[in-house]
Amino acid sequence: MKKIVFATNNAHKLRELREIAGDKFEILSLKDINCFDDIPETASTLEGNAIIKANFIKEHYGYDCFADDTGLEIDSLGGEPGVYSARYAGEDCNSENNIDKVLKNLDGNNNRAARFVTVIALRLGDEIFTFEGEVKGDILTERSGIGGFGYDPIFKPLEADCSFAEMLPEQKNAISHRGRAVKKLFEFLKNI
Ligand code: IMP
Repeated sequence: MKKIVFATNNAHKLRELREIAGDKFEILSLKDINCFDDIPETASTLEGNAIIKANFIKEHYGYDCFADDTGLEIDSLGGEPGVYSARYAGEDCNSENNIDKVLKNLDGNNNRAARFVTVIALRLGDEIFTFEGEVKGDILTERSGIGGFGYDPIFKPLEADCSFAEMLPEQKNAISHRGRAVKKLFEFLKNI
C-alpha cells in the first residue's frame, strides 16, 4: 500500500479521507510522522493556505504530502466566512460560536445560498498540484442533526433534503466539497 501524508490531525477529516482512500493508500496524519508544529495559514486564499501546509511538510519532514483548506462561502455575506471559516467568531472560536455568528448574520435574510469549497494541494517531489471540489447548498435557519463536524448542522446541499449533519458519512462523502476534491486527487495519484 502506498503511503502518503495528509497534513492534518483533524480526526473527522482523517476518517473521511481513509474511507474514500479505501485500501489503495495508507493515509498518515501529522501525529503519525511526529509533526506537532503549528503550521502557519497566512495566505489570503484557500489555495495559498493549502500550498503553504503541503510545502511545510515536504521542507521540514521530507514527506510527499497533501493538505487541504476549506471555506464556507455565503452569497449574501459577500462570500464570508470564506478563507476565515475556521476563525469566524474570532478568538476562542469553535464550531458552536462560528455557527451562531452565521445564523445571527443571516437572521431574517431569505437569500441563504452558499457553497463549501475545498482546495487540496499535493506536493510530490518538487512539484505542486492542486485539486478543487465544491458543493452548493443553503444555510438552514437552525441546526439540524448531530453527525459530521464544523458547519455541517446548518448546511443543506442542493442535492439532498437534509443537512450534512443528518447524513451517513458515505452519503456526505459522495457529494461533499472534500469528497469531490479528494476523488480528483486519487484519480491523479492512480495514474502516476
Ligand atoms: P479547514 O480549512 O478544513 O480547517 O476548515 C475551515 C473551517 O471550515 C473549519 O471551521 C471547519 O470546521 C469548517 N469545515 C471544514 N470542512 C467542513 C465540512 O466538511 N463540513 C463543515 N464544516 C467544515
